[in-house]
Amino acid sequence: MFMSKIIVLIGAPGAGKGTQARLLEAKLQIPQISTGDMFREIQNSDTALAREVKEILASGKLVPDNVTFEMVKERTSREDCGGSYILDGFPRTPRQAEMLEELASDQGKVISTILIDVPFEKLEERLTGRRSCPECGEIYNIHYKKPKVDGFCDDHPQAMLKHRADDTEDKVKVRLETYEENTKPLLKYYEDSGRLQKVDGTRRPDEIYRELENLIATNNVTA
Ligand code: AMP
Repeated sequence: MFMSKIIVLIGAPGAGKGTQARLLEAKLQIPQISTGDMFREIQNSDTALAREVKEILASGKLVPDNVTFEMVKERTSREDCGGSYILDGFPRTPRQAEMLEELASDQGKVISTILIDVPFEKLEERLTGRRSCPECGEIYNIHYKKPKVDGFCDDHPQAMLKHRADDTEDKVKVRLETYEENTKPLLKYYEDSGRLQKVDGTRRPDEIYRELENLIATNNVTA
């Protein structure tokens, strides 16, 4: 039987989850929900929550579980998430994983997680070199995925690429520690329940994408 899925892309900051989630969304028409993108958007409003989120994001630590979950629940209850959808950056703690189990059961969907595996020593360079287009979100890297014109998006030549405030060396350190401490235990949790698949995240993005696409196709995912 075909069942709608919640495809969780899991991996350390800088593993390439965002890049792959965006490719999957564009090519397979499966919506991708990125909690990091949603928080970055929220922090620009003028509310008490926005100010709190801004401070947390700047620190490299995690937004509280209940705030994060309410946002995911609301977003995934919209019509475009009626079938399968992709989660990028959620769950990130054991409590969030628990809350996702309940959500999946309420929504009548099955959870399937894919780890994008990148050794720790490679992540720092990836994160500190990362730049993104404010218009389309395309991700570049000053070391190995340079735009055609320095500092500007290939598809939006007037858009100056942005360096995320939390992609600086000191914040990256906190984010990687936060991943080790809070998110890594989830790998065992999903592996023990037979729901974890892995892809080697050190290869070229198009190779990783092909493998992800195959995994998703063999998983009988309906959009
Ligand atoms: P990301 O773009 O996924 O690296 O997320 C950027 C920041 O958003 C993180 O460093 C956290 O502060 C916050 N964030 C994103 N997803 C979550 C989550 N699932 N739980 C708590 N905080 C999150």
